[in-house]
Amino acid sequence: MKPGFYAVIGNSDYIRLNESKIPIWELLDEQPTGWLRSLASRPTVMPDRQPMIWDCGAFGYRNLDIPQIRGRFVTAHFCIYQYARLSKPGDAIVAPDHLLTGNRIDERRKFNGQQVIEFIKLAALKLPDRIPMAVVHGLTLAERIQRAIELYEIGYRAVGIGGLVAGARNFHSSRIAIAATIEAIRQFDTNVHFHVFGLCSPRYARAFNQLKVSFDGSTYAKEAFIARNFLMNQGGKLVRYPAAKTDTKAIAPRCCCRACKILRQYQIDPRYYGSRQHDIGRLAHNLNQLLLAHNHATNTLATCQLFQLQC
Ligand SMILES: [Zn+2]
Repeated sequence: MKPGFYAVIGNSDYIRLNESKIPIWELLDEQPTGWLRSLASRPTVMPDRQPMIWDCGAFGYRNLDIPQIRGRFVTAHFCIYQYARLSKPGDAIVAPDHLLTGNRIDERRKFNGQQVIEFIKLAALKLPDRIPMAVVHGLTLAERIQRAIELYEIGYRAVGIGGLVAGARNFHSSRIAIAATIEAIRQFDTNVHFHVFGLCSPRYARAFNQLKVSFDGSTYAKEAFIARNFLMNQGGKLVRYPAAKTDTKAIAPRCCCRACKILRQYQIDPRYYGSRQHDIGRLAHNLNQLLLAHNHATNTLATCQLFQLQC
């Protein structure tokens, strides 16, 4: 698996322009390393050749005692069946897991422990050309490290680090917890791949680039749809501008990313809200700006690329 950013594909991944469906990846100036899709979402289009991580979307059922997606129990069998249907050789597939929240933590730990054993056996049998991944959860750093070692001993060579989204604002303590978990394994095997779930701000991208891990996130989509913010990269940081109503003037600067340029030809300006096309356009624009900010933060942006994106 390649280190780098995996963008999340949700249910809003194409825009209808005239009569054609344009997937969001066709509106990007550059592609992310890959894409992550949860079994809880049901996109209608999928990138067919890009690296994928498939997971069960534990955040979506975090409040249920027993994990379920659309009325079906989430088990190793259920996930393998779905991944066999949806994934392609070389993709990473994630064992079912449950976040350690609520008041039945021990039951959740037990669930996680049983599923990772069942899942790796089934993956070897039914999907030997996929990469099985299991997710480390723990309430303390010591528990996380112990869990990572157990997953390694069970046979996993791709390990996810989860449950950190709630504490995302504590950048330094999160970074230390992630680095310590990785180091606990890499001190005896440098070939294990790590993936951090749900953290993708530019400063995390810089830390993850140094740690050579993959990571994912969907904040650009939440910013577009829920907070209705138009993001702009400024030297590796994202500045938020609230989207404007169509009868007012936008305060966000004019943008020349591929999404904004294409949509302008159809009289759609993602700095405004008012239609689904505006919202999806803003999602693609925000992802362009996030990828640009990642490049700035990790110093991998060529100067010529920077000029191309200026109006
Ligand atoms: Zn733009």
